[in-house]
Amino acid sequence: MLGMNTTDTAATQSSVEVLLAPLRASVDMDYIGEPISQLEHALQCAHWAEKTGADEEVILAALFHDVGHLLDESAPQMDGLGVMEHETLGKVFLETHGCSSRMGRLVESHVQAKRYLCYRHPRYYARLSDASRGTLEWQGGPMSTEEATTFESDPDFKVILALRSWDERAKDPDLQVKQLDAYAPMLANHLEQQEGFPTC
Ligand code: FE
Repeated sequence: MLGMNTTDTAATQSSVEVLLAPLRASVDMDYIGEPISQLEHALQCAHWAEKTGADEEVILAALFHDVGHLLDESAPQMDGLGVMEHETLGKVFLETHGCSSRMGRLVESHVQAKRYLCYRHPRYYARLSDASRGTLEWQGGPMSTEEATTFESDPDFKVILALRSWDERAKDPDLQVKQLDAYAPMLANHLEQQEGFPTC
């Protein structure tokens, strides 16, 4: 990038590696209740975001939406259904390593989207997988009317719902998608655009 020196480039690469490491390590981890790995789920979610023409911040949010499940093996669990408050852990991890607050917010909101859709469309709840219904209870159940009204006023409301739809599609054992490293340049570019970069 114009104006960047060698130190900044090294800082970018180091942050990219720190951010990608949990996904890289999730190649053999099951995606809860589904016949694919956590890494495949992340890549497929990013794939659908990209196919829809989403901007890079959104594509990266899709890639990292479940990273909070992958950060700490000893984190409190939802009875075998993944890490408790993984959406907030994911947001904090991304922001700590230089990603934008919008990306963090999109990641944190993907659970709220499920709670919203269960409130707004009772049939949506009926279609949820057993694992998804199980986690919904841990996550506070369907939204109240008040919560839903606040959620609808989020400037990224539609993007958050779209992310949820990609999340749900990203469970195909046969879909061929890009490798994780294909996202490294996009991530590097995102980090370099943030105010205050480099962060370490
Ligand atoms: Fe997911």
